Amino acid sequence: MRSFSVQVGRLFGVEVRLHLTFLILPLFVFWTESTVRSANGPRDLALVGIVLACVAAHEIGHMLVARRYGLIPKAVILLPLCGVTVFDESRSETIEPSAAWKRDVRVALTGPLVNLVLAIIAAGIIFPVVPGANLWKWPFLQASNLPRSLVWANLYLAGLNLLPTYPLDGGRILRAFFARSMDSAAATRRAVSISHALAMMLMVAGLFSDTWLTMVGVIIFSAAQLEERAVIFQSVLDNVRLEEVMLTDFATLSPADTLEDALDKAVHSLQDDFPVVRGSDMVGVISKARILEALRMEGNGYVQAVMNKIFEVSVRQESLSSAFRKLTARNLSIIPIVEDQRLVGIVTLQNLMHSMALLAESRKLRRDNAES
Ligand SMILES: [Zn+2]
Repeated sequence: MRSFSVQVGRLFGVEVRLHLTFLILPLFVFWTESTVRSANGPRDLALVGIVLACVAAHEIGHMLVARRYGLIPKAVILLPLCGVTVFDESRSETIEPSAAWKRDVRVALTGPLVNLVLAIIAAGIIFPVVPGANLWKWPFLQASNLPRSLVWANLYLAGLNLLPTYPLDGGRILRAFFARSMDSAAATRRAVSISHALAMMLMVAGLFSDTWLTMVGVIIFSAAQLEERAVIFQSVLDNVRLEEVMLTDFATLSPADTLEDALDKAVHSLQDDFPVVRGSDMVGVISKARILEALRMEGNGYVQAVMNKIFEVSVRQESLSSAFRKLTARNLSIIPIVEDQRLVGIVTLQNLMHSMALLAESRKLRRDNAES
């Protein structure tokens, strides 16, 4: 999900990332402007800055409304036309599917609304203050007329984002309607395929008319792909049971082991974290790093004294997302899986990450095969 984007900062605790298509924008502005007149670096950059600021305002609008619904944003990826906000699933409140579509429609509408309001305010100020702005003169977006560009950048953003192309806001609204009658992954897939078709049409249409259209098509295509990947991950998280990914062949330690013995066992295992068992009872967990640290600080002792006695257990049928929530909420790195109080397996953060990537890939392959 993070591919093709770079982190540029944090805003209100939310990671802000720029998608690499944003780097095309300055080049594109230089190129189209230089065909009209000699390029002017600072003004061209200012135009890019205006577009970026309008996208950011749009995205902040989405986030504020999402927050009111208990969704906690983790990162926002800015593309030249829109943003993709990634929510922190482990901390966000869950909501009934019947209520979710209304929430999604409201969150989606806020972005274009913010741009519309900004355009009206900007026009209201510019019209009397800057007489030479010529708000109705073509081309609407032009580095040599930044006030006019500010008004039109907002109008374009509002209009374009209402196209029914997922993950633009119009497409999100469409998806929310699909989600009323099908599960969320299927609704996303349907919205994404409509979006891909429209993006293709824009790209081709742009070749015969305005190159901006091709640019818009490329951006929509990248954004749809970003979202689709996030959705596949989420469906893996929700649908895969722990018994499908848990490690059943693992080493355990005893509370009566000395730290030196424990280290000796750890050296011969790939595991970084170990369940500590007495007889058939789980009594704690300990990591390789903790064993080493204790040996270094306090010398040899017993596992009993340094193991972590606070841990969470899960059962086979729990989903990966529930395991992830437990791991991240308490900063744990291992969860023992128990059945009738007996330890039957473990999942570790390392093993979850690994199996998720594998599962997402195999699902995508299976689906591509089914579609072709
Ligand atoms: Zn939006």
